Amino acid sequence: MYRTNHNAYERACDCTCPIHHGQPRATYTNPGCYCLATCASQPMTVLAPQIGGALFLDAHNALWFVQALEPGHWDWRYATAVNIGHPLFEVGTQIAGFLRDTHLMLLPLVHPL
Ligand SMILES: [Zn+2]
Ligand SMILES: [Zn+2]
Repeated sequence: MYRTNHNAYERACDCTCPIHHGQPRATYTNPGCYCLATCASQPMTVLAPQIGGALFLDAHNALWFVQALEPGHWDWRYATAVNIGHPLFEVGTQIAGFLRDTHLMLLPLVHPL
């Protein structure tokens, strides 16, 4: 049984990005985006300096990769979904599973019943 919590995915950006602040973020490749890798509009993010960027879940639970330009700055224009054919696809499938599980386990702490 697949369960989603829409509240967690419809959170507005809170990182003062000029494009997205106060908006739910539907796309991740808008030019001019200054969102943090840990923007509230992303359900779960892992910073991965080993591969020069961050992996995160989008609003549909899909895994994305965004490259770090310099500490705290992200190349959102070229953020890519980790689909079949992506160099990170195989390991990404496992990481996406861990991130989804972590998100689900943390939800009860954020939204107590
Ligand atoms: Zn943004
Ligand atoms: Zn943001």
